[in-house]
Amino acid sequence: MTTINVDIAILGAGMTGASLVHLLRPALAQGLTIALLDRQALQWQGDVQSRPPSFDGRATALSFGTQQLLDRLGVWSTVASSACAIEHIQVSDQQRFGQTHLHASEQGVEALGYVIENAQLGAGLLNPLRNLSGVQCLAPSAVDHVQMNEQGAYLRLNDGRTVQATLLVMADGGRSPLAQQLGITYQRQSYGTHALVTQVESLQAHDGWAYERFSREGPIAFLPLSSHQYAVVWTLNNDVVDDVLALDDATFLARLQQQIGHRVGRLQSVGERLSYPLALVTSTEQVRRSLVLLGNAAHSLHPVAGQGFNLAMRDCARLAEHILDQVRRGGQVGDLAMLQRYQQAQASDQRNTIAASDVLPKLFASDRGLLALARDGGLIAMSALPTARRLFARHAMGLGQKATQIG
Ligand SMILES: Cc1cc2nc3c(=O)[nH]c(=O)nc-3n(C[C@H](O)[C@H](O)[C@H](O)COP(=O)(O)OP(=O)(O)OC[C@H]3O[C@@H](n4cnc5c(N)ncnc54)[C@H](O)[C@@H]3O)c2cc1C
Repeated sequence: MTTINVDIAILGAGMTGASLVHLLRPALAQGLTIALLDRQALQWQGDVQSRPPSFDGRATALSFGTQQLLDRLGVWSTVASSACAIEHIQVSDQQRFGQTHLHASEQGVEALGYVIENAQLGAGLLNPLRNLSGVQCLAPSAVDHVQMNEQGAYLRLNDGRTVQATLLVMADGGRSPLAQQLGITYQRQSYGTHALVTQVESLQAHDGWAYERFSREGPIAFLPLSSHQYAVVWTLNNDVVDDVLALDDATFLARLQQQIGHRVGRLQSVGERLSYPLALVTSTEQVRRSLVLLGNAAHSLHPVAGQGFNLAMRDCARLAEHILDQVRRGGQVGDLAMLQRYQQAQASDQRNTIAASDVLPKLFASDRGLLALARDGGLIAMSALPTARRLFARHAMGLGQKATQIG
């Protein structure tokens, strides 16, 4: 039986795990070794089922902060031509009169964020890692057992190999069964809704506009892709989602058009539809000696504010900053005090982002007087007050927190 010894084992080559490897690249020259493990192959053609789940048929809204980080890591230049800049955002409420607009030009940036198909981002993140000296990609192979020991973490793969690592990063997605094997528990709060995800084409070009519309059925996001194409994330109650998934294309488009209105132009075609149950899931612990949970394994959020990956990326950058510093000082990468310092440094960002993603769908789902009034008040205040708009935009752009030194 072969045991592979490395400094860091990253379990999960989704958006989080793959991003972390890029962020740790400066330490490879100093001899740091990494194993990146995933049960799915890291190269794929077309077939959605065979891809790592992060890189399925969805598109992701990257905050301006995430895009800047990907640029400094050299990833952005390889994917930029597939991404679409969000130059304007309209937030509106179907049931009331509140509405606000954000503009990149007003914020002094070229884009409020960028939209990219996950498969394109996945190729950009994973392709450069396959031949990187110091990084072993162990995929496809599933880890079926994890055990902590004196030296760090011991992983058993389903192909008979084992990995011994000083630090184990669990980036293996929501409610990680392996973290639960280690006694880590999760808090789960279901929203009673699913996100229906698809792409639609409109007769009208989007001109860089993204739309977030809060309707009685739930929030809908239209995110610009190629010139007439939008990625759609439509939140629907659990009891209707299957019916909407099953509608024929014409009926589906008519229902969607009714919810979003004609601001996006006349919808004329729709692509494959996927759906995801929505819940706020957080692990009760994120660090232990030689162990850290990242990305969805630490926190899965409601996608309404498009913050799940953006938050994971800021966590990755902060963790990498601490690990790189530790390597420079010749310290242990599994050191508990260092991991706790990382967690403390990210705590307020995590708290604020999770709270914002949690409150938005509840605020806009309510018809009750005060809440409805508060959201209208908020939208009106934002449309009237440049400072309120600027604060909101900075948060949405992922610039509300202290920047890391990475890149
Ligand atoms: C509908 C929807 C829309 C979203 N839109 C946005 C958005 O616009 N902006 C944004 O920032 N975020 C968005 N998100 C959130 C974003 O998709 C997640 O934050 C991101 O996918 C998390 O990636 P991850 O790498 O942490 O986990 P995952 O994508 O779940 O990856 C985990 C990886 O671990 C592997 N794995 C698991 N177990 C094992 C094992 N035992 N052995 C080996 N490998 C294993 C899996 O194969 C997988 O590749 C959205 C989410 C949803 C549901």
